[in-house]
Amino acid sequence: MTGKAYLVGAGPGGLGLMTIRAREVIESADVILYDQLPGEEILATLPGSAELIDCGKYGGNHTLEQQEIETLMVERVKEGKTVVRLKGGDPFLFGRGGEEMETLREHGIPVEVVPGVTSAIAVPEMVGIPVTHRRYASTVTFITGHEDPAKPESALDWAVLSRLKGTLVILMGVKNLPKIAAVLIEHGKDPSTPVAIIERGLRPDQRVTVGTLADIVDKARAVGVRPPAVIVIGGVVELYGGSNE
Ligand code: SAH
Repeated sequence: MTGKAYLVGAGPGGLGLMTIRAREVIESADVILYDQLPGEEILATLPGSAELIDCGKYGGNHTLEQQEIETLMVERVKEGKTVVRLKGGDPFLFGRGGEEMETLREHGIPVEVVPGVTSAIAVPEMVGIPVTHRRYASTVTFITGHEDPAKPESALDWAVLSRLKGTLVILMGVKNLPKIAAVLIEHGKDPSTPVAIIERGLRPDQRVTVGTLADIVDKARAVGVRPPAVIVIGGVVELYGGSNE
């Protein structure tokens, strides 16, 4: 008797931007593995009838490693359970959902993926910044800022990224922002390129900091920018100032 696994996107925050399919799947779950990214409003509605596993604080203070999360999912499904792995935004965009799918498949476990509204698009959008716009950007590139750009073995080609004319959207980039801004300028990106940092998008304490590649680091430091935040680099930032704020 084998259960089933779902890799579910919770959306960028708030119940309104979660899909109906995600809600249905959550209601049917025996086990839900989650972390804090989906936000309080969503986490407060997880059904008490399910086994709720906080991957950030498992059994007290222990943070589950990726390997442990995958092992737990496999174990529970093999017990015949319906297992939901709930992730902020979309499960496959910088969410390690792809790796979880691979592991589940290796164990012959049926997987359904439930796409989610990604923060990479929705968070800027909700403050009036479209990631593409005919006048400003015909391409958009999603970048993980998690990697130290100074590392020679970095998987990211900053010389190429600096030359792109479209929008750059950086997730997980708060810590490395000083290095990222420096490396982009070093590779020739115009220091006057507009930049917006949107912290805690769609949460009551959302905050937006706007500047240019040249001054954003000082501005971010002055206000004490913290993760989670989406960083948008490009002309589209000029459109900031949506009615949703
Ligand atoms: N799969 C997720 C991204 C996971 S990586 C998605 O599709 O949205 C985690 C990063 O996402 C954070 O470090 C931050 O850069 C971004 N993020 C997710 N939700 C956010 C939110 N509500 N506000 C600001 N940034 C957010």
